[in-house]
Amino acid sequence: MSRQYQRIGERISAEIAQGDLTTGDRLPTEREYAERFGVSRTVVREAFIMLELAGRVNVRKGSGTYVCDPNSAALTNPAPAGDAPDSEDIGPFELLNARQVVESAIAACAAELITKPEIRRLQQLLDDERRGLTDVARGRSQHVEADAADRAFHLGIAEATQNTLLYEMATRLWDQRRRSPMWQHLHARILDFSYRNDWLADHDAILRQLRKRDSQAAQQAMWIHLENVKTTLFALSDTDDPRFDGYLYQQARAR
Ligand SMILES: [Zn+2]
Repeated sequence: MSRQYQRIGERISAEIAQGDLTTGDRLPTEREYAERFGVSRTVVREAFIMLELAGRVNVRKGSGTYVCDPNSAALTNPAPAGDAPDSEDIGPFELLNARQVVESAIAACAAELITKPEIRRLQQLLDDERRGLTDVARGRSQHVEADAADRAFHLGIAEATQNTLLYEMATRLWDQRRRSPMWQHLHARILDFSYRNDWLADHDAILRQLRKRDSQAAQQAMWIHLENVKTTLFALSDTDDPRFDGYLYQQARAR
C-alpha cells in the first residue's frame, strides 16, 4: 500500500517534469488539486511538503507555492541534514488520523482501569503543562517543554490501560512524529503557540472523564481533542491563506 500523499506528489512532480509547469510558475492551489485528484486538502498539503523537502517547489509569503529551479534552490536553500525526503515518512495528517483512532480507544480503555495514583500523576502533568505555557507566554522558555508535557500526558493515559501493547502502540505513534522530517517541516511553519491553551483545556476535559470513569465520554473527549489538533495544524500551516506569514516561515526554516 503506497502512501496517498506520495501518489499525489508524484503526479504533480510529473506535470512539472513534462513542462506543464516551469520554474517560477505558481502551482494551482491546494483546493484545485484536491478537486482534480479527488482527495482531501490534507493529502495535497502533505504532497506539497514532500515536494518542498525535495526542492521542487517553494512557498512564498501570502502568495502560494512556486516551481523552483532545482539548481538554484539547492544553493540558496540547502536542505538541512536529515531533512531529506524519506519514502518511509508518514504524512503528518495521516499520523494524526491514526492517533485519533488509536488514542480514543485507549482513552475508553483507560477510563475503566485507571488507578488513583495514575490520576494524580496525570493531574500533576497538567499542572506542569500549565506552568510551562505560562513560562512560554512570559518568554522564559521555548515551546519544546510544552511538547514534552503533551507527550507525557498522552502516554500516561496509554499506561493507564494496563496494556503493554497499547502503550507500545501509542509510544510508537509519538516516536514516529519525532523522527518525521515532514512533521518537523510542518511544525516549523507554526510560530503562534496560543492554541496550546485550547489544547490544555481539552486535556482537562479528558482527565475529568477519566476521573469519572466514563469510558464513552473519555473516548469522545480524546476524539474531539485530536480533531482540534488536526484543524489547528491545518489552519496554521495554510500557505494558500494570504494571512499566512511566509517571513516567519523562512526564519523557522533557517534555524
Ligand atoms: Zn494533547
